[in-house]
Amino acid sequence: MSLRDRIKRMIEADGPMPVSLYMQLCLHDPQQGYYATRPGLGRDFITAPEISQIFGELIGLWVVHEWQAIGRPSRFTLAEPGAGRATMMQDALRAMSLTSDGRDCLSAINLHLVEPSDHLRPMQAGRLADYQPQFVSHIDALPHQPTIIISNEFLDCLPARQFVRGEKGDWHERKVGLADGELVMGVDREAAVEPPSSLPELDTMEYQPGLGTYALSIAALVETDVPVRALAIDYGLDGLPPDDSLRAFRNGEQIDPLALPGESDLTVDVDFAELRRQGEAAGLHVHGTMAQGQFLLALGAEARMQQLVKANPEKAAEIYDAAARLIDPAQLGVRFKAMCLSSEGLPTPAGF
Ligand code: SAH
Repeated sequence: MSLRDRIKRMIEADGPMPVSLYMQLCLHDPQQGYYATRPGLGRDFITAPEISQIFGELIGLWVVHEWQAIGRPSRFTLAEPGAGRATMMQDALRAMSLTSDGRDCLSAINLHLVEPSDHLRPMQAGRLADYQPQFVSHIDALPHQPTIIISNEFLDCLPARQFVRGEKGDWHERKVGLADGELVMGVDREAAVEPPSSLPELDTMEYQPGLGTYALSIAALVETDVPVRALAIDYGLDGLPPDDSLRAFRNGEQIDPLALPGESDLTVDVDFAELRRQGEAAGLHVHGTMAQGQFLLALGAEARMQQLVKANPEKAAEIYDAAARLIDPAQLGVRFKAMCLSSEGLPTPAGF
């Protein structure tokens, strides 16, 4: 039975389902979920590390800097949730191997990938074989030692709930239901609900419960008395929460999120203001957001680009174009943002 039919049966049995449950099934259902079985990275959508190697290389330099900032521990966890094809990690580790500090840092790394997808794990293991990565399904399973976490386009996959204000000012949840046997979005008007976060006078809002879980997982590591830095880069807003940002992608095109459950990527804008609230409530230090373009420039994107052009003069235009895509405010430079959650007592992280 297709995932669509299974979802229909669930709705017939239990009533309309929250958008977050729909997202969870579409992305992670072990038999038919998108990431679990047929992630189309590079085909359905393209990410920064796949656009330019400069991205992962600069993240590598950031890791070396932060390893120094946490006191150059002789053993530390470098972890990446949602590594996809592991391109960012490959580029980061290669960039580290080019300097003497970087090589010291490399030799201290205990590499962990936080990846629930059985389909992606072997690919990541193969591409990072030289570094013997260990796999866990959740940040909570990371070992208790100094930790640096890096991620790109991970938070936007965390399932979102959507809330709509009714006429009397009370909140109702938007859900996936059935009409004439087809999946449809609708608002559950029967039950009033309390959105998990108290917010100003909005009429619609989206909420990713996973942002709070992410912050709490990092705080739990900090409580084992180790220094922790967690850098997340993603697209999203840093102000009011998104209202309805649920989108689906298939072959590079945006499609109806209900059209191809399990066969298209589903994503939402990250609410960085909420992540900041959650991080601070969990006792963490929060830096950013910083626009991706500014962040990469502060880490030395221009110098890295010049070096690359010098080594590959025939590819100069391609290299500039790719870097411009990541940095230019009119392209991905502002829509994408960096935020860093840290344990207490550390200096401002590089790039912020
Ligand atoms: N970071 C990569 C891939 C982004 S795609 C890049 O920039 O190219 C999203 C990745 O997040 C995939 O690897 C997917 O399997 C993973 N992912 C989705 N939900 C996750 C979760 N709850 N925990 C850990 N990883 C998750």
